Amino acid sequence: MGAERACPGRVPGGSKRRRDRRFHLRSARRIMTATDDPALTALFDAASAARARAYAPYSGFHVAAALSTPDGAIFCGVNVENASYPVGTCAEAGAIAAMALSGARRIAAILILGDGEGLTTPCGACRQRILEFSDGGDVEVFVAGPMGVRARFSARALLPAAFGPDFAARKTPAQDKT
Ligand SMILES: [Zn+2]
Repeated sequence: MGAERACPGRVPGGSKRRRDRRFHLRSARRIMTATDDPALTALFDAASAARARAYAPYSGFHVAAALSTPDGAIFCGVNVENASYPVGTCAEAGAIAAMALSGARRIAAILILGDGEGLTTPCGACRQRILEFSDGGDVEVFVAGPMGVRARFSARALLPAAFGPDFAARKTPAQDKT
């Protein structure tokens, strides 16, 4: 059905359509620079398609996340609100759950797309969720609005001095299933 087509799990190369996609490298200031990075374009396109399926009847704030794994697979999630507000879940959590279900265990990059003047950066809990799947490296975190990518961060910079997988012994290996 359509939900799968919105984020097919693998988007090789991405679209060649040229929209007004922009990003900048170092801070949350609104400096925008055009990009032709096909991997980033694929993430943006996947998040753009997924965002229409966000369930946000209470806030009206629709968010999508699209993450890529090192082998180029892409997984998406959307925010899912609930009448009991704290029960709602973030878009990043949905994307990470979809990745885990596939057997993948490493995030290479994640893009979060939301509306508004402010940057839709990951909440504190999602920063922790992203680091869990950094596999000792780092994860690129892109923040986008409907018109394009607006900022780039590193997951470690977003959560300095984090308590992460290195501090808690795993009982089973974290490697990808292949
Ligand atoms: Zn979150």
